[in-house]
Amino acid sequence: MPNGVNCLEEFLMPLNVEAIRADFPILSRIMPSGKPLVYLDNAATTQKPRQVIKSMSDYYEQNNSNVHRAVHTLAGEATAAYEKSRDTIAEWFNVERNQVIYTSGTTEAINLVVHGWGRANLEKGDVVLVTEMEHHADIVPWQLIAKERGIEIRFVSVDPETYRLNMDEFEASVEEAKFVGCVHTSNVLGTRNPVEDIIKMAHERGNHGKGARVLIDCAQASPHERLDVTDLGADFVAVSGHKMCGPTGIGSLIVTSEVMDEMQPFMAGGDMIEDVFLDHSTFQTGPYRFEAGTPKIAEAIGWGAAIEWLSQFDMHEVHKHIHDLAAHTANEISKIPGIKVYGDHSDPSCSGVVSFLHESIHAEDLAHFLDLGGFAVRTGHHCAQPLMRKLGIIATNRASFYLYNTQEEADSFIAHLERVVGRLTR
Ligand code: PMP
Repeated sequence: MPNGVNCLEEFLMPLNVEAIRADFPILSRIMPSGKPLVYLDNAATTQKPRQVIKSMSDYYEQNNSNVHRAVHTLAGEATAAYEKSRDTIAEWFNVERNQVIYTSGTTEAINLVVHGWGRANLEKGDVVLVTEMEHHADIVPWQLIAKERGIEIRFVSVDPETYRLNMDEFEASVEEAKFVGCVHTSNVLGTRNPVEDIIKMAHERGNHGKGARVLIDCAQASPHERLDVTDLGADFVAVSGHKMCGPTGIGSLIVTSEVMDEMQPFMAGGDMIEDVFLDHSTFQTGPYRFEAGTPKIAEAIGWGAAIEWLSQFDMHEVHKHIHDLAAHTANEISKIPGIKVYGDHSDPSCSGVVSFLHESIHAEDLAHFLDLGGFAVRTGHHCAQPLMRKLGIIATNRASFYLYNTQEEADSFIAHLERVVGRLTR
């Protein structure tokens, strides 16, 4: 593999799924039911290749120390490895390293926007415009400050037939919005939103032509796309490492330097300060201002290793592989009597999630029988209850694919689901 993540096309490996699978020890697991694991819960979290696991155990075995503090050798090594990951992440997303604020994931990243930017910039009467397609992580934090700041949260609706945002409604509301938050790719439907248009319109027309700040929740987009955050042009981008083969507990809020200056610290304590006096404190500059306390050191190192591992592949090919498996599965299972699939999988930009529900079998019962066959799928509201209500349901089953899933796995899933539904409805 070439060093760094800015790979030239000719160095990229073709997608050899069997070779990819060999990097994931967990994928050869035999489940308690005696069946081989078929992992289809990738939208919740992806599995980790041995290179990521090794980077973290190497760190704990050889370099473990706190960062940015002591002058001893281990501290220097830990700091260097931790900061090297920031370079890797920055390069992958095509931003400067000082735009990358480490967080525990997308949820903490959005909370940092709300409490770090929202509290400092929103006033009584201001409008925050989000969508009905948002994960709870981009709804509930706004609710927490809405009353206190006297702000209004407005929602762009989702069309329950086309599974798309109502863009006329967006256009009608954007003028008044001082802040716009939008999920790039839905974790329930797989819909890829027209985020480029949303960002452009929010910047040009938001808050009566002064321009609105925009946050894009890229939790489900970053595993599929080589996101060029500079090109995208959003003010805030939130991502999670664990959805792109990295460890849990690490992610980032990527911000423009202009917006960083508009933010106030959200968490305070060690490492984020410059000088502390009894009556006041001064703060570090750049991302460090927002990273209080001992950070997620091994996790950041593991995420860097995950990005280096992913950088072997052409992300267009990765997306196509995942999309094709999902589209095939959606198409086949929608022929099973009583199954309804949610999402437009005929759209090539649709991601790898297939949400479905049987008209008379409880989603949890179905998931239990799928589990007995070795198939790991997610069941529930997917932290998107407003969207579920819009669809007129309370839960779905969701199979979600990633680059290590095979056509055979998709076919055996389809066949098993058909058998289970047949037995339970006999
Ligand atoms: N937004 C979306 C679209 C997601 O899919 C998720 C994870 N399910 C989140 C936000 C929250 O991410 P995390 O749990 O990693 O903070």
